[in-house]
Amino acid sequence: MTEVRERLEELRDRGLYRHLRLVEGPQGPSVTLDGRPVLLLCSNNYLGLADRAEVREAAAEAALQWGAGSGASRLISGNMEPHRALERRLAAFEGYGSALLFGSGYLANSGVIAALAGRGEVVFSDELNHASIVDGCRLSRAETFVYRHGDVEHLSWGLRRARGRGALIVTDGVFSMDGDVAPLPQLLELARRHGARLMVDEAHATGAIGPGGRGSVAAAGLSGEVDVVVGTLGKALGSYGAYVCADAELVDLLVNSARSFIFSTAPPPSAAAAAAAALAILEAEPELVERLQANAALLRRSLAAEGLEAGPSTTQVVPVHVGEADATMELCELALEKGVFAQGIRPPTVPDGSCRLRMTAMATHRREDLVAAAHMVGTAAREIGLSQAEPLAA
Ligand SMILES: *Cc1c(COP(=O)(O)O)cnc(C)c1O
Repeated sequence: MTEVRERLEELRDRGLYRHLRLVEGPQGPSVTLDGRPVLLLCSNNYLGLADRAEVREAAAEAALQWGAGSGASRLISGNMEPHRALERRLAAFEGYGSALLFGSGYLANSGVIAALAGRGEVVFSDELNHASIVDGCRLSRAETFVYRHGDVEHLSWGLRRARGRGALIVTDGVFSMDGDVAPLPQLLELARRHGARLMVDEAHATGAIGPGGRGSVAAAGLSGEVDVVVGTLGKALGSYGAYVCADAELVDLLVNSARSFIFSTAPPPSAAAAAAAALAILEAEPELVERLQANAALLRRSLAAEGLEAGPSTTQVVPVHVGEADATMELCELALEKGVFAQGIRPPTVPDGSCRLRMTAMATHRREDLVAAAHMVGTAAREIGLSQAEPLAA
């Protein structure tokens, strides 16, 4: 039996110990954190829909009409009108024949991969894919070939070696810790050539990129072509839960075989109704997406003016690379003292030696908030010797 205290001490020694911080009030552009007001730069509430009045009202009305919980899994008695209505809406939004709700993105990825790949087959997974994809690969009992980040040559080599046993290529659309976009046309071409399916996780792409915020698949013009699209309701859509879009037959197979769908309670009707209201707002106000993109570009520019490079990010996920865990957390705490909340990200979320402060822009940030936040992080970085650069005019 491993000693709990020893394991905690080891995490502390390695600079990897994590603790929960407490946010008061909704996920707005600024929040009260552990009792102090700070600018919020690490929420995935990208479009401000989690705190929009219409979305909150839709959740409250659904709770009054349908109850607080769904009472059972979808296949028992938990399938209700708000679930159906949202699935129809999501399928139409993404340009697919069918959509299926899951309890969360974690559950969707782990369930779908395990349902679509089995013993004797191979799943091809980008090395920077989200942990829920990694766990789906483990659950599938298929072999996993991890290809170098975005490296289609390496993937192609792996597919040739698998000699037709390749079942699935899986990738984040927008990478959750780096903010860059997967090379989807090349991935789809390789999938077709080798008889594998392509699955894209749109967690940070929905509401953020593509026409009307339809994500990376739509941005590449591949709606309906990519075999499986996973999206979350908990990020830009401001609610909780996730969905999978595919053709009707594949969705039918998931209903019958995805264990995280079958053996888990249906999402609460309030979460489904809130997501439907958020989707309606996104469709009516595509300018929200433009505002998010403009804010993200301003944040990247403002950090660059502070001498901080955001690497390959082209989106609202803007990492400030530090390297080691201790220095990252020092930067995080010092930035907090100055009034900006951005979370330090360490292994196992990112590879060893690539710790970073992960900043995220929201459509609801004011321009001056973003410039101020970048300046506070830049000042903190200079104070602890991470950056020598003098700030330039943004
Ligand atoms: C957040 C995230 C998930 C998990 O979604 P939840 O609904 O929060 O469980 C899956 N994939 C990626 C890329 C994510 O960033």
